Amino acid sequence: PAASGPHKLGTDGQSFIHSPTAPGTRMNATFVTLARNSDVWEISRSIRQVEDRFNRNYNYDWVFLNDDDFDETFKKVTTTLTSGRARYGKIGEDHWGFPSWIDQEKAATVREQMREKKIIYGDSISYRHMCRYESGFFFRHPLMMEYEYYWRVEPSIELFCDISYDPFKFMADNGKKYSFVLSLYEYRETIPTLWDSVKNFTQHFPQHIAKDNSLWWISEDEGKTYNNCHFWSNFEIGSLEWLRSDAYIDYFSHLDQDGGFFYERWGDAPVHSIAAALMLPKEEIHFFNDIAYYHVPFTHCPTGEETRLDLKCHCDPGHNFDWNGYSWNEEQLLMWFWGRSRTLVRYER
Ligand code: GDP
Ligand code: MN
Repeated sequence: PAASGPHKLGTDGQSFIHSPTAPGTRMNATFVTLARNSDVWEISRSIRQVEDRFNRNYNYDWVFLNDDDFDETFKKVTTTLTSGRARYGKIGEDHWGFPSWIDQEKAATVREQMREKKIIYGDSISYRHMCRYESGFFFRHPLMMEYEYYWRVEPSIELFCDISYDPFKFMADNGKKYSFVLSLYEYRETIPTLWDSVKNFTQHFPQHIAKDNSLWWISEDEGKTYNNCHFWSNFEIGSLEWLRSDAYIDYFSHLDQDGGFFYERWGDAPVHSIAAALMLPKEEIHFFNDIAYYHVPFTHCPTGEETRLDLKCHCDPGHNFDWNGYSWNEEQLLMWFWGRSRTLVRYER
């Protein structure tokens, strides 16, 4: 058949028809995945869904980062599944490991205590390096320096509905710097002194705090205490330039000096969320209500049947997590993080 539009050559040298790409400009943006070689099959499931639901029509690049060398299987499988360029980066030792000022004995004692208390990942060293890397370094990897926007994808996620527009372009056109689909409460035991460190930062760097910030969202007593609310960072679309800004770097460096990535188990989710809430005007944070998403154990699924049919969704709306007591409900989210220039899909209850 006479096919128009781009096509790839199959391995047998025959050309096969590739889905026509969406018209319009592309942003300077990439998907980014931190993974180990052993994650290959779980990340493959994620890639397949992101490609089917969105990227096969847009062909954005995909950057894979690892503290080890990616093996041939990982590269072969993921290159085949991605429609854009697949790129592989090794993380330098200066970005993955214990900083010099960390007291190793103290850190080991904490891991032992957290193991006894059965705190999730509490005894893990690699999980701590991962959280610190996602908090302060992925956006500074040489490969990532080439881009302005990122979309983080983790292994074993699901995208349940078609994405019928370019979220990167939405971010750029609307001046958005950070976005999320699910928000919940962090385990208190993993961040006992995080807020003290944040308050200390705000005293040293008042110039970095946005006037129209979202302190209201993360604190119920005007900043005295943190309410543990955070955006779930296994899904993120955001501005790399914001993360590379003086404000964010000062913030991360300040937290890093206090050692809580190792003396506690600070996660990148509360670290990113507090930064966004305090240092971005609230209009620059976006709630992607229309992206239907799963990462174990929570689902965001449109409850309106028309939306689900329009976007060919395959999730069970009964599993939607937005309005049980553990999460912020949709009305609160929409009220606060309303996209100014966009019609949001209204979900029925
Ligand atoms: P969870 O979602 O909090 O349970 O944590 P995950 O196990 O999903 O880890 C978060 C992300 O970091 C995923 O993309 C993992 O593939 C990645 N990751 C976790 N630990 C490591 C590690 O030690 N090395 C590398 N290269 N990636 C890791
Ligand atoms: Mn995960």
